[in-house]
Amino acid sequence: MGKTLGASLDAEIVTVYRTLDGAIHHARCGKPVMLERHRAGGLEIDFYCRACAETVTLPFCVLSRIRVTHGATTLS
Ligand SMILES: [Zn+2]
Repeated sequence: MGKTLGASLDAEIVTVYRTLDGAIHHARCGKPVMLERHRAGGLEIDFYCRACAETVTLPFCVLSRIRVTHGATTLS
């Protein structure tokens, strides 16, 4: 049962989400993350969550695919 094909594409961006105003928020705590630095020649971007004191690294190419949501609560 279960489709594994394509699952990784759907599941890859779970650490952050984007709100309607374009800000990127940390999914765990719901606080906005700050852009910290670019890495790997700009292919990866580090975001920093002050609430969790945690760095979140995302590949640059996935930024445009971060799903937009109204808040931390999601329907599943
Ligand atoms: Zn956080």
